[in-house]
Amino acid sequence: MPTTVKRANSIKPVSFEDTSIAFSSQSNGKLLKTYWLFALMNRGWVVNLGTFFIKLALKLQLPVKKLIKSTIFEQFCGGETIRDCEKTIQKLHDGNIGTILDYSVEGEDNEKCFDETVQEILRTIDRAGESKDIPFSVFKITGIASTELLEKVQSGETLTEEEQAAYDRVRQRVDALCRHACERNVRIFVDAEESWIQETIDELTYEMMDKYNHHQCIVYNTYQMYRWDSFENLKKATETARKKGYYLGVKLVRGAYIEKERIRAHEGEYQDPIHPTKEETDRDFNQAIDFCLEYRDTISFCLGTHNEYSSQYCIRKMLELKINPGDPHVWFAQLLGMSDNISYNLANAGYNVAKYVPYGPVEAVMPYLFRRAEENKSISGQSSREYRLIKSELKRRKNAGRQ
Ligand SMILES: Cc1cc2nc3c(=O)[nH]c(=O)nc-3n(C[C@H](O)[C@H](O)[C@H](O)COP(=O)(O)OP(=O)(O)OC[C@H]3O[C@@H](n4cnc5c(N)ncnc54)[C@H](O)[C@@H]3O)c2cc1C
Repeated sequence: MPTTVKRANSIKPVSFEDTSIAFSSQSNGKLLKTYWLFALMNRGWVVNLGTFFIKLALKLQLPVKKLIKSTIFEQFCGGETIRDCEKTIQKLHDGNIGTILDYSVEGEDNEKCFDETVQEILRTIDRAGESKDIPFSVFKITGIASTELLEKVQSGETLTEEEQAAYDRVRQRVDALCRHACERNVRIFVDAEESWIQETIDELTYEMMDKYNHHQCIVYNTYQMYRWDSFENLKKATETARKKGYYLGVKLVRGAYIEKERIRAHEGEYQDPIHPTKEETDRDFNQAIDFCLEYRDTISFCLGTHNEYSSQYCIRKMLELKINPGDPHVWFAQLLGMSDNISYNLANAGYNVAKYVPYGPVEAVMPYLFRRAEENKSISGQSSREYRLIKSELKRRKNAGRQ
Protein backbone atom coordinates (compact mmCIF):
# COMPACT_ATOMS: atom_id res chain seq x y z
CA MET A 1 0.00 0.00 0.00
CA PRO A 2 2.23 2.87 1.17
CA THR A 3 4.60 3.61 -1.65
CA THR A 4 7.47 4.88 0.51
CA VAL A 5 9.32 2.16 2.36
CA LYS A 6 11.50 3.99 4.84
CA ARG A 7 14.74 2.61 6.21
CA ALA A 8 14.46 1.66 9.88
CA ASN A 9 17.27 3.97 10.97
CA SER A 10 15.53 7.00 9.40
CA ILE A 11 12.21 6.47 11.22
CA LYS A 12 10.91 9.31 13.36
CA PRO A 13 8.28 9.04 16.09
CA VAL A 14 4.74 9.55 14.79
CA SER A 15 2.49 12.16 16.36
CA PHE A 16 -1.25 11.42 16.37
CA GLU A 17 -1.96 15.05 17.22
CA ASP A 18 -1.29 16.37 13.71
CA THR A 19 -4.88 17.16 12.73
CA SER A 20 -3.82 18.75 9.42
CA ILE A 21 -2.73 15.27 8.25
CA ALA A 22 -5.56 13.46 10.03
CA PHE A 23 -8.29 15.44 8.25
CA SER A 24 -6.43 16.27 5.03
CA SER A 25 -9.01 14.36 2.97
CA GLN A 26 -11.95 16.37 4.35
CA SER A 27 -13.13 19.66 2.86
CA ASN A 28 -14.21 22.44 5.24
CA GLY A 29 -17.86 21.67 4.53
CA LYS A 30 -17.48 17.95 5.19
CA LEU A 31 -15.47 18.59 8.36
CA LEU A 32 -18.12 20.97 9.68
CA LYS A 33 -20.79 18.35 9.05
CA THR A 34 -18.69 15.73 10.87
CA TYR A 35 -18.24 18.23 13.71
CA TRP A 36 -21.99 18.62 14.16
CA LEU A 37 -22.55 14.88 14.00
CA PHE A 38 -19.99 14.21 16.74
CA ALA A 39 -21.28 17.20 18.74
CA LEU A 40 -24.72 15.56 18.73
CA MET A 41 -23.38 12.09 19.48
CA ASN A 42 -21.50 13.61 22.41
CA ARG A 43 -24.79 14.20 24.13
CA GLY A 44 -25.76 10.86 25.62
CA TRP A 45 -29.46 11.73 25.74
CA VAL A 46 -29.44 12.57 21.97
CA VAL A 47 -27.99 9.14 21.18
CA ASN A 48 -30.49 7.37 23.46
CA LEU A 49 -33.46 9.30 22.11
CA GLY A 50 -32.25 9.12 18.49
CA THR A 51 -31.70 5.36 18.72
CA PHE A 52 -35.19 4.88 20.15
CA PHE A 53 -36.90 6.96 17.44
CA ILE A 54 -34.92 5.50 14.55
CA LYS A 55 -35.74 1.96 15.69
CA LEU A 56 -39.41 2.91 15.99
CA ALA A 57 -39.47 4.74 12.64
CA LEU A 58 -37.87 1.78 10.84
CA LYS A 59 -40.39 -0.57 12.45
CA LEU A 60 -43.27 1.66 11.34
CA GLN A 61 -41.65 2.03 7.91
CA LEU A 62 -41.53 5.81 8.18
CA PRO A 63 -39.34 7.56 5.57
CA VAL A 64 -36.19 8.11 7.69
CA LYS A 65 -33.76 6.33 5.38
CA LYS A 66 -32.69 9.55 3.66
CA LEU A 67 -31.93 11.24 6.97
CA ILE A 68 -29.92 8.26 8.23
CA LYS A 69 -28.07 8.01 4.93
CA SER A 70 -26.95 11.62 4.91
CA THR A 71 -25.78 11.61 8.53
CA ILE A 72 -24.56 8.64 10.55
CA PHE A 73 -24.51 6.20 7.58
CA GLU A 74 -22.40 8.58 5.50
CA GLN A 75 -19.95 8.98 8.38
CA PHE A 76 -19.38 5.32 9.17
CA CYS A 77 -20.27 3.40 5.99
CA GLY A 78 -18.99 3.33 2.42
CA GLY A 79 -22.44 2.91 0.88
CA GLU A 80 -25.04 0.26 0.19
CA THR A 81 -23.06 -1.63 -2.47
CA ILE A 82 -19.42 -2.25 -3.43
CA ARG A 83 -19.86 0.21 -6.29
CA ASP A 84 -21.02 2.89 -3.82
CA CYS A 85 -17.77 2.34 -1.88
CA GLU A 86 -15.50 3.21 -4.83
CA LYS A 87 -15.30 6.89 -3.83
CA THR A 88 -14.22 5.96 -0.31
CA ILE A 89 -11.70 3.43 -1.64
CA GLN A 90 -10.16 6.19 -3.79
CA LYS A 91 -10.14 8.73 -0.97
CA LEU A 92 -8.40 6.31 1.38
CA HIS A 93 -5.97 5.39 -1.38
CA ASP A 94 -5.06 9.08 -1.69
CA GLY A 95 -4.01 8.98 1.96
CA ASN A 96 -2.00 5.74 1.38
CA ILE A 97 -4.63 3.80 3.32
CA GLY A 98 -6.11 0.50 2.22
CA THR A 99 -9.78 -0.47 2.34
CA ILE A 100 -11.25 -3.59 3.90
CA LEU A 101 -14.74 -4.04 2.45
CA ASP A 102 -16.93 -5.25 5.30
CA TYR A 103 -20.37 -6.47 4.27
CA SER A 104 -22.07 -5.58 7.52
CA VAL A 105 -25.50 -7.14 7.28
CA GLU A 106 -26.50 -8.47 10.70
CA GLY A 107 -29.34 -10.45 12.20
CA GLU A 108 -30.47 -12.43 9.15
CA ASP A 109 -30.62 -16.05 10.19
CA ASN A 110 -31.61 -18.46 7.41
CA GLU A 111 -29.89 -20.63 4.81
CA LYS A 112 -30.93 -18.43 1.89
CA CYS A 113 -29.41 -15.34 3.53
CA PHE A 114 -26.25 -17.25 4.44
CA ASP A 115 -25.78 -18.26 0.79
CA GLU A 116 -26.47 -14.72 -0.41
CA THR A 117 -23.93 -13.36 2.08
CA VAL A 118 -21.33 -15.82 0.80
CA GLN A 119 -21.96 -14.57 -2.76
CA GLU A 120 -21.50 -10.97 -1.63
CA ILE A 121 -18.27 -11.74 0.26
CA LEU A 122 -16.97 -13.55 -2.83
CA ARG A 123 -17.57 -10.29 -4.70
CA THR A 124 -15.54 -8.36 -2.10
CA ILE A 125 -12.71 -10.87 -2.59
CA ASP A 126 -12.93 -10.40 -6.37
CA ARG A 127 -12.77 -6.63 -5.90
CA ALA A 128 -9.78 -7.01 -3.54
CA GLY A 129 -8.04 -9.21 -6.09
CA GLU A 130 -8.27 -6.42 -8.68
CA SER A 131 -6.14 -3.83 -6.88
CA LYS A 132 -3.68 -3.23 -4.08
CA ASP A 133 -6.07 -0.64 -2.60
CA ILE A 134 -7.87 -3.50 -0.82
CA PRO A 135 -5.24 -5.44 1.14
CA PHE A 136 -7.67 -7.68 3.08
CA SER A 137 -11.15 -9.18 2.92
CA VAL A 138 -13.20 -9.99 5.98
CA PHE A 139 -16.20 -11.97 7.14
CA LYS A 140 -18.07 -12.97 10.26
CA ILE A 141 -18.97 -16.64 10.64
CA THR A 142 -22.39 -15.64 12.05
CA GLY A 143 -23.10 -13.98 8.71
CA ILE A 144 -22.98 -17.42 7.08
CA ALA A 145 -24.04 -19.76 9.89
CA SER A 146 -26.66 -19.97 12.61
CA THR A 147 -25.37 -18.90 16.03
CA GLU A 148 -27.44 -21.64 17.66
CA LEU A 149 -25.76 -24.28 15.55
CA LEU A 150 -22.26 -22.91 16.21
CA GLU A 151 -23.05 -22.93 19.91
CA LYS A 152 -24.26 -26.52 19.83
CA VAL A 153 -21.11 -27.61 18.01
CA GLN A 154 -19.00 -25.90 20.69
CA SER A 155 -20.93 -27.55 23.52
CA GLY A 156 -19.99 -30.97 22.16
CA GLU A 157 -23.64 -32.11 22.11
CA THR A 158 -24.48 -34.68 19.44
CA LEU A 159 -25.95 -32.99 16.37
CA THR A 160 -29.07 -34.32 14.70
CA GLU A 161 -28.68 -35.49 11.10
CA GLU A 162 -30.20 -32.25 9.90
CA GLU A 163 -27.87 -30.15 12.07
CA GLN A 164 -24.85 -32.13 10.90
CA ALA A 165 -25.84 -31.44 7.29
CA ALA A 166 -26.24 -27.74 8.10
CA TYR A 167 -22.81 -27.68 9.76
CA ASP A 168 -21.26 -29.41 6.73
CA ARG A 169 -22.68 -26.57 4.63
CA VAL A 170 -21.13 -24.01 7.02
CA ARG A 171 -17.71 -25.65 6.52
CA GLN A 172 -18.24 -25.63 2.76
CA ARG A 173 -19.09 -21.91 2.86
CA VAL A 174 -16.01 -21.08 4.93
CA ASP A 175 -13.87 -23.18 2.61
CA ALA A 176 -15.36 -21.55 -0.50
CA LEU A 177 -14.44 -18.09 0.84
CA CYS A 178 -10.91 -19.01 1.91
CA ARG A 179 -10.21 -20.94 -1.31
CA HIS A 180 -11.45 -18.02 -3.39
CA ALA A 181 -9.22 -15.66 -1.39
CA CYS A 182 -6.20 -17.96 -1.77
CA GLU A 183 -6.71 -18.30 -5.54
CA ARG A 184 -6.73 -14.51 -5.85
CA ASN A 185 -3.88 -13.89 -3.40
CA VAL A 186 -6.19 -11.95 -1.11
CA ARG A 187 -5.68 -12.08 2.67
CA ILE A 188 -8.87 -12.74 4.61
CA PHE A 189 -9.77 -11.93 8.23
CA VAL A 190 -12.20 -14.08 10.19
CA ASP A 191 -13.72 -11.77 12.81
CA ALA A 192 -13.92 -12.90 16.44
CA GLU A 193 -17.32 -13.09 18.16
CA GLU A 194 -18.86 -14.24 21.46
CA SER A 195 -17.01 -16.77 23.65
CA TRP A 196 -19.81 -19.35 23.42
CA ILE A 197 -19.20 -19.75 19.67
CA GLN A 198 -15.54 -18.68 19.41
CA GLU A 199 -14.07 -22.19 19.82
CA THR A 200 -16.07 -23.34 16.80
CA ILE A 201 -14.88 -20.29 14.86
CA ASP A 202 -11.26 -20.99 15.90
CA GLU A 203 -11.51 -24.62 14.84
CA LEU A 204 -12.88 -23.75 11.41
CA THR A 205 -10.27 -21.01 10.95
CA TYR A 206 -7.29 -23.18 11.92
CA GLU A 207 -8.54 -25.86 9.53
CA MET A 208 -8.47 -23.22 6.76
CA MET A 209 -4.99 -22.01 7.75
CA ASP A 210 -3.67 -25.57 7.50
CA LYS A 211 -5.19 -25.71 4.02
CA TYR A 212 -4.26 -22.30 2.62
CA ASN A 213 -1.44 -20.77 4.70
CA HIS A 214 1.46 -23.10 3.82
CA HIS A 215 2.94 -20.88 1.12
CA GLN A 216 1.80 -17.45 2.27
CA CYS A 217 -0.39 -15.97 4.95
CA ILE A 218 -3.94 -15.87 3.58
CA VAL A 219 -6.29 -16.69 6.47
CA TYR A 220 -6.19 -14.58 9.67
CA ASN A 221 -7.85 -15.49 12.97
CA THR A 222 -8.85 -12.78 15.46
CA TYR A 223 -7.64 -12.76 19.08
CA GLN A 224 -9.66 -10.78 21.63
CA MET A 225 -7.22 -9.72 24.29
CA TYR A 226 -9.99 -8.89 26.79
CA ARG A 227 -10.20 -12.65 27.31
CA TRP A 228 -7.77 -13.91 29.92
CA ASP A 229 -7.08 -17.07 27.90
CA SER A 230 -6.31 -15.35 24.58
CA PHE A 231 -2.61 -14.76 25.04
CA GLU A 232 -2.10 -18.42 25.91
CA ASN A 233 -4.23 -19.44 22.91
CA LEU A 234 -2.12 -17.23 20.66
CA LYS A 235 1.05 -18.93 21.90
CA LYS A 236 -0.45 -22.40 21.40
CA ALA A 237 -1.66 -21.47 17.89
CA THR A 238 1.85 -20.28 17.03
CA GLU A 239 3.36 -23.54 18.26
CA THR A 240 0.88 -25.56 16.19
CA ALA A 241 1.48 -23.43 13.09
CA ARG A 242 5.25 -23.94 13.44
CA LYS A 243 4.82 -27.70 13.90
CA LYS A 244 2.49 -28.03 10.95
CA GLY A 245 4.52 -25.62 8.83
CA TYR A 246 1.96 -22.94 8.02
CA TYR A 247 1.88 -19.18 8.56
CA LEU A 248 -0.30 -17.85 11.36
CA GLY A 249 -2.44 -14.85 10.40
CA VAL A 250 -3.32 -12.81 13.50
CA LYS A 251 -5.71 -9.89 13.99
CA LEU A 252 -5.28 -8.50 17.49
CA VAL A 253 -8.25 -6.69 19.03
CA ARG A 254 -9.38 -5.98 22.57
CA GLY A 255 -12.92 -7.34 22.03
CA ALA A 256 -16.33 -5.90 21.35
CA TYR A 257 -18.79 -7.97 23.41
CA ILE A 258 -17.80 -7.19 27.00
CA GLU A 259 -21.27 -6.38 28.35
CA LYS A 260 -22.92 -9.42 26.78
CA GLU A 261 -20.11 -11.66 28.05
CA ARG A 262 -20.30 -10.36 31.60
CA ILE A 263 -24.11 -10.66 31.78
CA ARG A 264 -24.15 -14.21 30.43
CA ALA A 265 -21.34 -15.38 32.71
CA HIS A 266 -23.13 -13.84 35.69
CA GLU A 267 -26.50 -15.35 34.79
CA GLY A 268 -25.05 -18.74 33.84
CA GLU A 269 -22.84 -18.76 36.94
CA TYR A 270 -19.70 -19.71 35.09
CA GLN A 271 -16.30 -18.01 35.18
CA ASP A 272 -16.30 -14.70 33.32
CA PRO A 273 -14.00 -15.19 30.29
CA ILE A 274 -13.10 -11.47 30.33
CA HIS A 275 -10.27 -9.91 32.33
CA PRO A 276 -11.59 -8.20 35.47
CA THR A 277 -9.96 -4.87 34.54
CA LYS A 278 -9.13 -2.79 31.49
CA GLU A 279 -5.48 -2.63 32.65
CA GLU A 280 -5.18 -6.41 32.30
CA THR A 281 -6.68 -6.28 28.81
CA ASP A 282 -4.21 -3.53 27.87
CA ARG A 283 -1.29 -5.49 29.33
CA ASP A 284 -2.16 -8.62 27.30
CA PHE A 285 -2.75 -6.59 24.16
CA ASN A 286 0.71 -5.03 24.40
CA GLN A 287 2.34 -8.37 25.32
CA ALA A 288 0.70 -9.91 22.27
CA ILE A 289 2.27 -7.16 20.12
CA ASP A 290 5.71 -8.10 21.50
CA PHE A 291 5.00 -11.76 20.84
CA CYS A 292 3.83 -11.21 17.24
CA LEU A 293 6.86 -9.05 16.48
CA GLU A 294 9.18 -11.68 17.94
CA TYR A 295 7.67 -14.51 15.86
CA ARG A 296 7.46 -12.64 12.56
CA ASP A 297 8.95 -15.67 10.80
CA THR A 298 5.63 -17.46 11.50
CA ILE A 299 3.15 -14.65 12.25
CA SER A 300 1.73 -11.89 10.06
CA PHE A 301 -0.45 -9.59 12.11
CA CYS A 302 -2.77 -6.64 12.12
CA LEU A 303 -3.56 -4.41 15.10
CA GLY A 304 -7.27 -3.61 14.99
CA THR A 305 -7.37 -0.77 17.46
CA HIS A 306 -8.23 2.88 18.11
CA ASN A 307 -5.98 2.91 21.16
CA GLU A 308 -3.20 5.43 20.67
CA TYR A 309 -0.92 4.01 23.33
CA SER A 310 -0.97 0.50 21.79
CA SER A 311 -0.36 1.91 18.31
CA GLN A 312 2.57 3.97 19.62
CA TYR A 313 3.80 0.95 21.59
CA CYS A 314 3.92 -1.12 18.41
CA ILE A 315 5.82 1.48 16.40
CA ARG A 316 8.28 2.01 19.27
CA LYS A 317 8.95 -1.74 19.40
CA MET A 318 9.35 -1.85 15.62
CA LEU A 319 11.88 0.92 15.91
CA GLU A 320 13.79 -0.92 18.66
CA LEU A 321 13.82 -4.12 16.61
CA LYS A 322 14.81 -2.18 13.45
CA ILE A 323 11.69 -3.30 11.60
CA ASN A 324 10.82 -1.08 8.66
CA PRO A 325 7.43 0.70 8.89
CA GLY A 326 6.35 -0.89 5.62
CA ASP A 327 7.19 -4.42 6.80
CA PRO A 328 4.59 -6.63 5.07
CA HIS A 329 3.97 -8.67 8.26
CA VAL A 330 2.71 -5.71 10.30
CA TRP A 331 -0.53 -3.82 9.66
CA PHE A 332 -2.67 -1.32 11.54
CA ALA A 333 -6.44 -1.07 11.04
CA GLN A 334 -9.21 1.24 12.19
CA LEU A 335 -12.89 1.64 11.36
CA LEU A 336 -14.09 4.15 8.76
CA GLY A 337 -15.14 7.44 10.33
CA MET A 338 -13.09 6.89 13.47
CA SER A 339 -9.52 7.62 14.60
CA ASP A 340 -8.40 9.26 11.38
CA ASN A 341 -5.66 10.86 13.48
CA ILE A 342 -4.12 7.39 13.92
CA SER A 343 -4.77 6.07 10.39
CA TYR A 344 -3.62 9.11 8.41
CA ASN A 345 -0.60 9.93 10.56
CA LEU A 346 0.61 6.31 10.53
CA ALA A 347 0.12 6.01 6.77
CA ASN A 348 1.88 9.32 6.25
CA ALA A 349 4.87 7.91 8.14
CA GLY A 350 5.00 4.85 5.87
CA TYR A 351 3.22 2.25 8.06
CA ASN A 352 0.78 -0.23 6.53
CA VAL A 353 -2.73 0.97 7.35
CA ALA A 354 -6.20 -0.10 6.30
CA LYS A 355 -9.71 0.85 7.34
CA TYR A 356 -12.79 -1.37 7.62
CA VAL A 357 -15.34 0.12 5.23
CA PRO A 358 -18.71 -1.31 6.25
CA TYR A 359 -21.42 -1.38 3.63
CA GLY A 360 -24.85 -2.88 3.02
CA PRO A 361 -28.51 -1.86 2.86
CA VAL A 362 -29.23 0.94 5.37
CA GLU A 363 -31.75 -1.06 7.45
CA ALA A 364 -29.41 -4.04 7.66
CA VAL A 365 -26.38 -2.09 8.92
CA MET A 366 -28.34 -0.22 11.61
CA PRO A 367 -27.11 -2.46 14.50
CA TYR A 368 -23.53 -1.59 13.45
CA LEU A 369 -24.39 2.13 13.36
CA PHE A 370 -26.08 2.08 16.77
CA ARG A 371 -22.88 0.56 18.21
CA ARG A 372 -20.78 3.36 16.67
CA ALA A 373 -23.13 6.02 18.07
CA GLU A 374 -23.00 4.36 21.49
CA GLU A 375 -19.19 4.25 21.40
CA ASN A 376 -18.96 7.95 20.57
CA LYS A 377 -21.38 9.25 23.12
CA SER A 378 -20.09 11.30 26.02
CA ILE A 379 -18.87 9.45 29.10
CA SER A 380 -19.37 11.45 32.30
CA GLY A 381 -19.67 14.73 30.46
CA GLN A 382 -16.31 14.41 28.69
CA SER A 383 -16.12 15.16 24.98
CA SER A 384 -15.05 12.23 22.85
CA ARG A 385 -11.56 12.31 21.43
CA GLU A 386 -12.92 12.48 17.84
CA TYR A 387 -14.96 15.56 18.71
CA ARG A 388 -12.02 17.35 20.31
CA LEU A 389 -9.72 16.59 17.37
CA ILE A 390 -12.24 17.85 14.79
CA LYS A 391 -12.81 20.98 16.84
CA SER A 392 -9.08 21.61 17.01
CA GLU A 393 -8.68 21.13 13.23
CA LEU A 394 -11.54 23.56 12.50
CA LYS A 395 -9.83 26.10 14.76
CA ARG A 396 -6.48 25.50 13.06
CA ARG A 397 -8.03 26.06 9.60
CA LYS A 398 -9.76 29.21 10.78
CA ASN A 399 -6.50 30.62 12.15
CA ALA A 400 -4.60 29.58 9.00
CA GLY A 401 -7.24 31.39 6.91
CA ARG A 402 -6.66 34.59 8.88
CA GLN A 403 -2.90 34.63 8.23
C1 LIG B 1 -10.13 -2.89 12.47
C2 LIG B 1 -10.89 -3.42 13.65
C3 LIG B 1 -11.34 -4.74 13.62
C4 LIG B 1 -12.05 -5.24 14.72
N1 LIG B 1 -12.47 -6.54 14.70
C5 LIG B 1 -13.06 -7.08 15.80
C6 LIG B 1 -13.42 -8.45 15.87
O1 LIG B 1 -13.22 -9.21 14.92
N2 LIG B 1 -14.00 -8.91 17.00
C7 LIG B 1 -14.22 -8.11 18.11
O2 LIG B 1 -14.71 -8.59 19.14
N3 LIG B 1 -13.92 -6.78 18.06
C8 LIG B 1 -13.35 -6.27 16.94
N4 LIG B 1 -13.02 -4.94 16.92
C9 LIG B 1 -13.46 -4.05 18.04
C10 LIG B 1 -12.44 -4.08 19.18
O3 LIG B 1 -12.44 -5.35 19.77
C11 LIG B 1 -12.74 -3.04 20.27
O4 LIG B 1 -14.03 -3.21 20.76
C12 LIG B 1 -12.62 -1.61 19.85
O5 LIG B 1 -11.64 -1.44 18.87
C13 LIG B 1 -12.23 -0.77 21.08
O6 LIG B 1 -10.97 -1.17 21.58
P1 LIG B 1 -9.63 -0.34 21.29
O7 LIG B 1 -8.44 -1.24 21.33
O8 LIG B 1 -9.81 0.36 20.02
O9 LIG B 1 -9.54 0.78 22.41
P2 LIG B 1 -9.78 1.03 23.93
O10 LIG B 1 -10.79 2.13 23.97
O11 LIG B 1 -8.46 1.26 24.59
O12 LIG B 1 -10.38 -0.25 24.56
C14 LIG B 1 -11.73 -0.48 24.79
C15 LIG B 1 -11.82 -1.98 24.97
O13 LIG B 1 -11.13 -2.39 26.15
C16 LIG B 1 -11.77 -3.51 26.73
N5 LIG B 1 -12.24 -3.14 28.09
C17 LIG B 1 -12.89 -2.01 28.43
N6 LIG B 1 -13.19 -2.01 29.76
C18 LIG B 1 -12.71 -3.17 30.25
C19 LIG B 1 -12.74 -3.77 31.55
N7 LIG B 1 -13.31 -3.17 32.58
N8 LIG B 1 -12.19 -4.99 31.67
C20 LIG B 1 -11.61 -5.62 30.64
N9 LIG B 1 -11.55 -5.11 29.40
C21 LIG B 1 -12.10 -3.90 29.19
C22 LIG B 1 -12.95 -3.83 25.83
O14 LIG B 1 -12.50 -4.79 24.91
C23 LIG B 1 -13.23 -2.52 25.14
O15 LIG B 1 -13.85 -2.68 23.88
C24 LIG B 1 -12.31 -4.42 15.84
C25 LIG B 1 -11.84 -3.10 15.85
C26 LIG B 1 -11.12 -2.60 14.79
C27 LIG B 1 -10.63 -1.18 14.84
